[in-house]
Amino acid sequence: MTESVKYVLSEDRMPRSWYNLAADLPKALPPVLHPGTGQPIGPADLAPLFPMEIIKQEVSTERYIDIPEPVRDIYRQWRPTPLYRARRWEKALGTPAKIYYKYEGVSPAGSHKPNTSVAQAFYNKAEGVKRLTTETGAGQWGSSLAFAGALFGLEIEVFMVKVSFQQKPYRRALMETYGARCVASPSEETASGRAVLKEHPNSTGSLGIAISEAVEVAAQRDDTKYSLGSVLNHVLLHQTVVGQEAMLQLEEAGDYPDVIVGCTGGGSNFGGITFPFLGAQLRGGKKLRIVATEPSACPSLTKGRYAYDFGDTGHLTPLVKMHTLGSAFVPPGFHAGGLRYHGMSPLVSHIKELGLIEARSYDQLDVFEAGVQFARVEGILPAPEANHAVKGALDEALRCKREGKAETILFNLCGHGHFDMQAYMDYFSGKLKDIPYDERDLQRSLDALPKVAAE
Ligand SMILES: *Cc1c(COP(=O)(O)O)cnc(C)c1O
Repeated sequence: MTESVKYVLSEDRMPRSWYNLAADLPKALPPVLHPGTGQPIGPADLAPLFPMEIIKQEVSTERYIDIPEPVRDIYRQWRPTPLYRARRWEKALGTPAKIYYKYEGVSPAGSHKPNTSVAQAFYNKAEGVKRLTTETGAGQWGSSLAFAGALFGLEIEVFMVKVSFQQKPYRRALMETYGARCVASPSEETASGRAVLKEHPNSTGSLGIAISEAVEVAAQRDDTKYSLGSVLNHVLLHQTVVGQEAMLQLEEAGDYPDVIVGCTGGGSNFGGITFPFLGAQLRGGKKLRIVATEPSACPSLTKGRYAYDFGDTGHLTPLVKMHTLGSAFVPPGFHAGGLRYHGMSPLVSHIKELGLIEARSYDQLDVFEAGVQFARVEGILPAPEANHAVKGALDEALRCKREGKAETILFNLCGHGHFDMQAYMDYFSGKLKDIPYDERDLQRSLDALPKVAAE
């Protein structure tokens, strides 16, 4: 057993700690800046929004951070998640490659997101918080936080992007089942929401707008904090249980990946599966290829600019350096709602700049074709977001076939698609189209990026 695996896993085969990539980076992350002063922010600036333990994790450079026992207790319900070898898919493809996938769809909410929602709810509860606000696109994050809130007795208020609120009632019903309150965004309940509605009464919303509303509400009340399901360092930290488990499970199978694939919306499931392996590489271990896959209709890593930007449309958040399409960018309405964010995690953006990872974008139709093919041999129906990872793994497997290489491919099947059947029905009936973004919209949005002296 490798040293790192021995250190992090306990007898119940679940990680004891989260792994923090910041400890092993060859170059430190650029600082987060205050939008008013342009100066690096300190913990006090974030205190209205997050509990102190989370803020400490956000800026920590410790390699391992202990997972609190109450969090591990809840993880135990579905962790460790299974690592499968896709033997039937390998055979169907006729590839000499070995394909493994980590399946995060076995969590109660059906994706990797409870790995962080449970941790965030725990720290908020421990610091006396009564209520959490958040945003959600298709509803994966909202339902994950609603689940965690129910376990810890926290009130959860979710601003759900209006188009999803109207078109995806089942995730909303799941949030309400867990006891959360769900509001269509933009709403009349916040100044940010009212400002959007004044200009665009028929606005169908965006993640950036919903974030503004959730942040605004949290900043107003002492007993209320804000919770984000992706992008930030602490979120990616919590997701590293995925990669650490995969490392041990592969070791038991006598294997180690040559290439790892993950889909990227804000970067959390991707960071979760890849960072423990990347950290091992940076500490002198085996070098591997790491591939991020994203939708070509919202291509922050492949077409975005690496620049300081706001996390939200209303410009209430600090400025972070990331690959961004600009906070004014509203992607076209494709089905992988979890991948419709204008920015990318600063950590993932940073390692992309350092040349440690590759990125690729895919059209929606190609991605569904891969997902359907996968479901027909492996039986698991992936979430539309996860289909991007399936497609990435498929391309790697076919490359191995062409090159006659028996490489080991690992990908993260980050969630099931049982709440996304409308997307599959649209695909089968030919209604699903590839919707390109508007080049002029993107240019306008990039032109409007904040000017920051530190660049
Ligand atoms: C939210 C979500 C994503 C996108 O978020 P990341 O932070 O990039 O992981 C991807 N897949 C699923 C199933 C999701 O729920």
